[in-house]
Amino acid sequence: MSRCNRRQLLAGLGLAAVGHSVVVNARQGRANKRPSNERTTGVGKLALQDYEPKSMLHVPETRVERARFPVIDFHTHLSWSARRRQITEAHNNATPEEVLPVMDRKNLRMMVNLTGGYGKVLEQTINYWQKPHPDRFIVFTEPWFEKINEPGYPQFQADQIGHAQELGAKGLKVLKTLGLYLRERVTTGPLVKIDDHRFDPMWEAAGAHRMPVAIHISDPEAFFLPTDRFNERYEELSAHPDWSFHGKDFPSNQQLQEARNRVIARHPKTQFVVLHVGDAENLPYITELLDRYRNMHVEIGARIGELGRQPRASRKFFEKYQDRILFGTDAVPGGNDTPQQIFGEQLYEIYYRFLETEDEYFDYAPAPKPPQGRWRIYGIGLPESILRKVYHENAERLLRLTS
Ligand SMILES: [Zn+2]
Repeated sequence: MSRCNRRQLLAGLGLAAVGHSVVVNARQGRANKRPSNERTTGVGKLALQDYEPKSMLHVPETRVERARFPVIDFHTHLSWSARRRQITEAHNNATPEEVLPVMDRKNLRMMVNLTGGYGKVLEQTINYWQKPHPDRFIVFTEPWFEKINEPGYPQFQADQIGHAQELGAKGLKVLKTLGLYLRERVTTGPLVKIDDHRFDPMWEAAGAHRMPVAIHISDPEAFFLPTDRFNERYEELSAHPDWSFHGKDFPSNQQLQEARNRVIARHPKTQFVVLHVGDAENLPYITELLDRYRNMHVEIGARIGELGRQPRASRKFFEKYQDRILFGTDAVPGGNDTPQQIFGEQLYEIYYRFLETEDEYFDYAPAPKPPQGRWRIYGIGLPESILRKVYHENAERLLRLTS
């Protein structure tokens, strides 16, 4: 029976309207009676933010409770370095006692806390996470951006890398602060460029100390476009208007990427881990860069939404660069602002499902609505040899850990 005939039949039996009102009531949880015209015209009145369609696909759902191999999560934020009126202090997002049991259940051997800060904060952070659990937590340092316009900054910043290593830091993290927030007078003046020569001694020092640089520059391409009805991240940008880099004096995504590329090219002995795959929406471009720069690696945190909606391209990408892709989630314990980053069992299960299974059309974040865009993802079912590398071997090599 065609759909049209079925509809006519139901209408003839007086069931079509009843069927519809059941749906409306299920959503709104209200009494049965609704004006008859709303049964038809009410369909167009659902606000986008209230729309939570459930997939009707009958497809296999695999629960991957533990990763097949031990995992190093290369991209987490267990702490921030809060800055208030010149007083800088560490802010921990959780305690090791809260995090460790989750890690054990998920076969998560180690977490790299990228935002360890510098100076006193770095020391506090290392003492809190890494010192008591050196086989479970690793801490990276960050640049002392506030001193950018002080005389002697380039050498000072280079020296800080060595000091950080003495304290126990295993790498350097650069947030998108560089390129999008940091200005000549820190918060005012022109934006400081990513390839500003004042940072050259810092990149070199990281290479000399064999500390990998985890670098996040730019953001999804849609963040640089107007937040309008054509923007595929309209809901995400509406929820976080400050994430938009459209207009003002912001560089374009391409300018940011190119400035980062010049840094990678200028410091061939420094190992760069480009976070968030660099530009997960443009794998052909990242492929080109990985072929061009032997000292470049990528990490996949908060981008399985992108990788998983192009599963065939992603699978080829993982096959080709299996030695240079690192597992990461961008996990932050607590908070529910960004569901795709909330540290917890659900988050890891989604990543494992994406990497290990060929499940189809599932949520990339533990949230009632896909938070980064209205789509779902497909698993890429990587073979064990690649899983081992992505889960831990590539990170071990860069961090110079022995398994
Ligand atoms: Zn991050």
